[in-house]
Amino acid sequence: MIYIIHLNTPIKHARHYVGYVHDERGVQARFNEHCAGKGSRLLQVALHLGITFTLAATMPVSKNDERAFKNRKNTPYYCPICNPKRHKTCNSTSH
Ligand SMILES: [Zn+2]
Repeated sequence: MIYIIHLNTPIKHARHYVGYVHDERGVQARFNEHCAGKGSRLLQVALHLGITFTLAATMPVSKNDERAFKNRKNTPYYCPICNPKRHKTCNSTSH
């Protein structure tokens, strides 16, 4: 499945990070890594800038479809924050 991370403050034109993991547990583990500044250069930069980010959504998309999803460039449509719904927030200042 893929997961969508929404940056609470955009960095230049980047407002989302989309990644791929095998399952729901993988998403949680990966998100924890991102909160620790691992696994994504973009999110690492966000942490350095004091920008918080949110695990906005997961979607049951295969690895093959990950690229197609990214190429569609309409992540905000699937993001529950840009397109409101429930979400979890990563607070980088809590460490
Ligand atoms: Zn968003």
